[in-house]
Amino acid sequence: MTKPTEEILLNDRNDRKELDARSIACHVRELIKLIGEDPNREGLRKTPERFEKAFKFLTSGYHQNVDHVLNGATFSVAYDEMVIVKDIEFFSLCEHHLLPFFGKAHVAYLPDKRPKVSA
Ligand SMILES: [Zn+2]
Repeated sequence: MTKPTEEILLNDRNDRKELDARSIACHVRELIKLIGEDPNREGLRKTPERFEKAFKFLTSGYHQNVDHVLNGATFSVAYDEMVIVKDIEFFSLCEHHLLPFFGKAHVAYLPDKRPKVSA
């Protein structure tokens, strides 16, 4: 006897991620149909999976841990002149249209105090 699909998903996180991924591609296939295209046409056949992969990459920041990304790179220092960090690459999706955007950021700050995080 096989378990209902939902029960399997709740018991195995990896299976759930796999189904979520298929779900994104499945929805993209429907979007392609809605614009009057044939998702089985040769040029579009793998578009849903390509979109899924790109979408996951562009939203990968949601699954990153800030402490892991910073890797202990904050520290106290006796220095009071401006620090400038240039060419910080960033990418994301516009929340209104889900269109990608990217660029480089430049940050300048005075390190007279250690940054504090408050809740
Ligand atoms: Zn937009």
